[in-house]
Amino acid sequence: MTTGLFWFTNDLRLHDQPALWKMQSVDKLICVFCIDPQWFRPNGLNAKAMGERRLQFLYESLADLQQQLQQFGQQLIIKQQTPHKALTELIEFYNVDIIVRSQHAGVYENRHWHLLQQQFPQRKFITEVSHTLFAAEDLPFAIGDLPDSFTQFRKLVEDLALPRPMSAPQQLPPPPGPIAIDKLSTPIHKPSPFHGGETAALEHISEYFSADLPANYKQVRNELDGWQHSTKFSPWLALGCLSVRHLVSKLRTYEQNKTNNDSTYWIYFELLWREYFQWYAMRHGAKLFRFDGIKNTKSRRCYYPERYQKWCNGNTPYPLVNACMKQLNATGYMSNRGRQIVASCFVYDLNLDWRFGAAYFEQQLIDYDVAANWGNWQYIAGVGADPRGGRHFNIEKQTQQYDPNGEFIRRWQGDIDLVPLDSVDAADWPIMPPSKQ
Ligand SMILES: Cc1cc2nc3c(=O)[nH]c(=O)nc-3n(C[C@H](O)[C@H](O)[C@H](O)COP(=O)(O)OP(=O)(O)OC[C@H]3O[C@@H](n4cnc5c(N)ncnc54)[C@H](O)[C@@H]3O)c2cc1C
Repeated sequence: MTTGLFWFTNDLRLHDQPALWKMQSVDKLICVFCIDPQWFRPNGLNAKAMGERRLQFLYESLADLQQQLQQFGQQLIIKQQTPHKALTELIEFYNVDIIVRSQHAGVYENRHWHLLQQQFPQRKFITEVSHTLFAAEDLPFAIGDLPDSFTQFRKLVEDLALPRPMSAPQQLPPPPGPIAIDKLSTPIHKPSPFHGGETAALEHISEYFSADLPANYKQVRNELDGWQHSTKFSPWLALGCLSVRHLVSKLRTYEQNKTNNDSTYWIYFELLWREYFQWYAMRHGAKLFRFDGIKNTKSRRCYYPERYQKWCNGNTPYPLVNACMKQLNATGYMSNRGRQIVASCFVYDLNLDWRFGAAYFEQQLIDYDVAANWGNWQYIAGVGADPRGGRHFNIEKQTQQYDPNGEFIRRWQGDIDLVPLDSVDAADWPIMPPSKQ
């Protein structure tokens, strides 16, 4: 009799789940997800890895997966322990023969996996691709030779044939017996247009492609607000409630049956950005989090607690930045344009160490994805994949271009309580606002 263990991570779904298909042949199957207590402790960058909004989205996704698995007579075991500890206990107690998971770009997740492999050299460990469009062997280069820029990467992969998404399995092996499940203390529910889980993801995909939205995506994707102005697939993609291959197959069907234009191409183009950052993270490992990035670029940014706090709270002298940050704090989401503007402000106008901004995003974003977040921050800070060495946006110009009537700023109250950037000067003397001088 063989016993298999499936470690769910950022692949909370049953459709297009190659690793789960691998488990068809075992006699008994354990499905487990680990909620790591580490996520809720402050890290060295002033933030926690998991904020309340993403936690809510995660719980909704786990509840949905739990329901789906129950239809197959399976159950999802949720362990509130570090993966290494939780999985060690399960492997030993149930004498597990095969351990399976999806490929993950995160250094931390991979460390737990490698520890387990070392600890149980006699057991079989299998990793399957589920988070990316391509598998490493589909790429026309070795991961170590990943092109330095997105454009070079895109040209090499854009026309490659995509592996077909897999359907959900028809049946699953049973669990080895009743297993105690940790009780979860659910966070206080906050209203959100994003509901976690595969069911909500598949509903969103069918709604999105039943309207004309994909055909107009390129014209509106840079808007700062509005549900319909971009696809809003990111939270489901980040947690794997939605397979990116499934998404592209729906896009292709739309192109065949409805419209095939610049806009539909551009959705694929953006998904290639996502793809690039996934392989970028896998190639560069821990360098993704390093101050001087992947190129050892020397940076002169420092840490000013007051500026950092003002940026987080949306209380800087820049109304557009404030509005974006308040939107993020209130909803867990910010447009791509907004993210670029506030990140550029953080690095170049406030002169702060980019890693603190990235860590704050990690805490606040519902769609946080380790590769997309840290890769984009490196790009803007000029320590990553940008051939131009970083992006400094002129906030005034951006305001004129993307919020000419000030509507977005008013909606998110970016223009109230504007204060000077610093309350003390370099010698620690209080700086008076002009009205009080
Ligand atoms: C500083 C910064 C941090 C970011 N952090 C994250 C993050 O943690 N998680 C995340 O998913 N995206 C991140 N992005 C990328 C992008 O802003 C979001 O993917 C996008 O805004 C999500 O909304 P959407 O699904 O409507 O995007 P759409 O415009 O509809 O794009 C479709 C999909 O393409 C992908 N995509 C689009 N732009 C990018 C990009 N620049 N990089 C990587 N993938 C992209 C996403 O999967 C997105 O869902 C970040 C961008 C910046 C500038």
